[in-house]
Amino acid sequence: MAELEQEVAQKFPPAADFAAQANWNDPTIYETAAADPDAFWAGQAEQLVWSRKWDTVSEWNPPHAKWFLGGQLNVSVNCLDRHVEGGRADKAAIVFEGEPGDTKTYTYAELHQEVCKFANVLQSQGVQRGDRVTIYLPMIPEAAIAMLACARIGAPHSVVFGGFSADSLRERIHDSGSKLLITADGGWRRGGVVKLKEAADQALAGETTIEHVIVVNRTGKPEETPWTAGRDLWWHELASDASDQNEAVALDSEDLLFILYTSGSTGKPKGIAHTTGGYLTGATTTCKYIFDLKDDDVYWCTADVGWITGHSYVVYGPLSNGATVFMYEGAPDWPARDRFWELIEKHKITILYTAPTAIRAFMKWGTEWPEKHDLSSLRLLGSVGEPINPEAWLWYHKNVGGERCPIVDTWWQTETGAIMITPLPGISATKPASASRPFPGVSALVVDEKGDPLPEGGEGVGLLVITKPWPSMLRTLWGDDARYKEVYWSKFADKGYYFAGDGAKRDAEGDYWLLGRVDDVMNVAGHRVSTMEVESALVDHPSVAEAAVIGKAHDIKGQAISAFVTLKEGIEPSPELMAELKAHVAKKIGAICRPDDLFLTAELPKTRSGKIMRRLLRDIAEGRALGDTTTLADPSVVSSLKDKYTDES
Ligand code: ATP
Ligand code: MG
Repeated sequence: MAELEQEVAQKFPPAADFAAQANWNDPTIYETAAADPDAFWAGQAEQLVWSRKWDTVSEWNPPHAKWFLGGQLNVSVNCLDRHVEGGRADKAAIVFEGEPGDTKTYTYAELHQEVCKFANVLQSQGVQRGDRVTIYLPMIPEAAIAMLACARIGAPHSVVFGGFSADSLRERIHDSGSKLLITADGGWRRGGVVKLKEAADQALAGETTIEHVIVVNRTGKPEETPWTAGRDLWWHELASDASDQNEAVALDSEDLLFILYTSGSTGKPKGIAHTTGGYLTGATTTCKYIFDLKDDDVYWCTADVGWITGHSYVVYGPLSNGATVFMYEGAPDWPARDRFWELIEKHKITILYTAPTAIRAFMKWGTEWPEKHDLSSLRLLGSVGEPINPEAWLWYHKNVGGERCPIVDTWWQTETGAIMITPLPGISATKPASASRPFPGVSALVVDEKGDPLPEGGEGVGLLVITKPWPSMLRTLWGDDARYKEVYWSKFADKGYYFAGDGAKRDAEGDYWLLGRVDDVMNVAGHRVSTMEVESALVDHPSVAEAAVIGKAHDIKGQAISAFVTLKEGIEPSPELMAELKAHVAKKIGAICRPDDLFLTAELPKTRSGKIMRRLLRDIAEGRALGDTTTLADPSVVSSLKDKYTDES
């Protein structure tokens, strides 16, 4: 990739008035934190309420870290009690809108009461400190209440995305050994009801560790909900009898807070284990400074609570900061393609955090949808989940941010617990598609295959590693410490570096450009080409909505580039257009990157969190049996691509 010419990047420094009011606007924060990361993180941990202060900031027995040893705290106290007592009792904590348009607001005092009630419910069902609880819910306030109630009593939760199938749920329940399941009769999605309870029943058929199922009545038709007497219990019946007083358990800093399975873009999902003190310190600090949270913000992170982004930036990060969180149940295109913009206008959202996959869908639908609404309440935008193409970044900047909002492109993983590489909105001059630099207190490097860092100052491409432990890092893979060591720590075992699995470029100014997974980097006739660069060149063409690129085994070149492309609405496919697209790539980044094959397709295979699954495209292109497909959003996309591919190649 270093061989390829990179277009001169545009730069967007923070506006003076934004910088003046920002939570951080002094760039020396980077040096101060780097000089003594432990002192920096300890300073951040002081923002939390501890029932016992730690004795030792960190301990590192590679590859196992501990943070704030000897300290005791409770996450729900930090997210609720301290705000109720500290003057925010009547401030909105969660503003919810359901897909059918129903709304509900919980103040901090009300949310505290609901969490205390549900904590009592869990305890009355025999859930004890250390017992695992699986949560399988739509995006409704009860999801946050259930998580916080688990945290209050010290029962680690495992949230499973409500769009997952019965099989995926069964596998995750089994792996976590959960005792209790919390679900709903259903959730609203594009005008229909997703029948969660039916899927839950299937997941529990046969042998299971689950003793009780607590069911939220979301769709209002209890008589139609399949029921197993003795095992199944209604949330509202249990909660109405419960006391709203519950004394939070003081947990050890290193007690398990939750298990969360990764998206499964690269293979079988991994059960990531996060603990209490370090995780909350990371989520709270990053949320406050990266999103520049203020007391009058209305903050909307569109991620589902089933993903890490939903854990750290819908629930724990913003609530720990005492923010007002907006939560929406449904799809962005229901009842119409301006649903998000309508919600932003209606609720006067000030901060929006979403994913490139959503932004590319908005681009495909056209600017007329955001143009219908007043989006002037917005003051900051964020992106997470995949590399964002420069085209998509600029579209977001112009059509959503009105060219006035800073964009934070945040790189991180389920494993990292909190954002690791990101602009700081009051400090960084952002560049479209660059995630800027490591957050203060995070030590990252771009290294070569041997683990040697790129030469200082110059630009280069390599593997992204984290060189020092950080508070919100995963502690292990649940039940499989051997796999933990193997996946993250074996590649650079001698150096003790965490291997993220992603490729990155560092430019001459020290900014990082994430290039996608290392497995996705192609080797074309001796040149290392990132799928991301070719995809961005395709998306740069005015007819293209989205593209996925893979390297297919080739006798002479090593790998040949195959591109799968979806067109913008109203664009007619034609052989001329296909030739033009290939030529466009050659022109943008060089003849070597001209795709050998190009397929036009209506959809790309994606995980349920919206990430493109390139490994499945490689399997198709190379005629292999498909790998793990359980996390695919729509399996029919893959079978139709398979047919198409065999027809045309
Ligand atoms: P699995 O590990 O099971 O394959 P996954 O890696 O997709 O699943 P997540 O933890 O949800 O699961 O995603 C983290 C990955 O998402 C990162 O490793 C990176 O590849 C990608 N990613 C996230 N944010 C960004 C970003 N801002 N820029 C580039 N890539 C990103
Ligand atoms: Mg991953």
